[in-house]
Amino acid sequence: MSIEVKNLTKVYGSQKAIDQVSFSIGSGEIVGFLGPNGAGKSTTMKILSGYISKTSGEAEVLGLDVSSNGIAIKKKIGYLPELNPLYGEMYVKEYLEFTANIHDIKNTKKAIDKVINSTGLTQESTKKISQLSKGYKQRVGLAQALINDPDVLILDEPTSGLDPNQMKEIRQLILSLGKNKTILLSSHIMQEVEAMCNRVIIINQGKIIADDTIQSIKKNRNEDQVYTLVTFKDKINEEQLMTIKGVQSVELSGNNTYSVCTKKSADAAEILFNFAIASKTIILEQKSKEKSLESIFEFLTKNA
Ligand code: ADP
Repeated sequence: MSIEVKNLTKVYGSQKAIDQVSFSIGSGEIVGFLGPNGAGKSTTMKILSGYISKTSGEAEVLGLDVSSNGIAIKKKIGYLPELNPLYGEMYVKEYLEFTANIHDIKNTKKAIDKVINSTGLTQESTKKISQLSKGYKQRVGLAQALINDPDVLILDEPTSGLDPNQMKEIRQLILSLGKNKTILLSSHIMQEVEAMCNRVIIINQGKIIADDTIQSIKKNRNEDQVYTLVTFKDKINEEQLMTIKGVQSVELSGNNTYSVCTKKSADAAEILFNFAIASKTIILEQKSKEKSLESIFEFLTKNA
């Protein structure tokens, strides 16, 4: 296992930030660590990276216990902290040289050239960090996390504050890094997690409330309901549709387009077809809608 956490607990004063957290992550996995603000994501990641100590429980990274091998772990992992703290007055190369020296890297030039190349920083490598756009600053953060060529990357909100284009670029970069590294990344952007990870661990109020592949989380939460996105030619009477047996909810989601939730046992196609005839309209388009990770996240974190 690359990361192994058992009953990990951290107490700040009288507050339990994380409470008996357990999970393990195998080599080469890209795992999304999800949870609302204050759920305990950063605390867990800081403990795993050796930046803060645990209160109780166990945490191992690459077989090393985090509480007694802080320095050895920092040498083997890459960590991008939340808010990506950088030294704005330093030049990109100067900063990377500084981080390479902290890691005691022998061939500094080679290591710097490699990360500049892999994070797409070549054009900006002679600039001062403060002169870079947010997306490029994020690349510098990733470059420092990669300077020691780590097997495990811990990325705390790697795309936070970026515009949609920059997000896409950083996601692609992380995906390419994930080809030969284990990655644990936190985020609260569901599309992002769906685009990058196979598996998610969801934490709420310091406790793990789900740990599975995105596919099975969706499947398991979908057991008794089916969502259909249907577009009628004309305006329909939503309330009338709601009264049909098997229909659980109807939500307008566009021009004459509705998201209709039916019981799995009901035949949604038949219900909608008969309803269209009775309403003297026709169905222009109809497709079944997968329950989104976003709605599952909302359901799990609000109902926990
Ligand atoms: P997340 O990363 O999921 O937003 P955090 O791990 O940052 O959550 O925080 C978990 C809880 O621990 C929050 O309630 C937060 O206020 C608290 N917390 C985090 N760091 C500290 C600290 N240094 N001192 C006291 N409380 C803290």
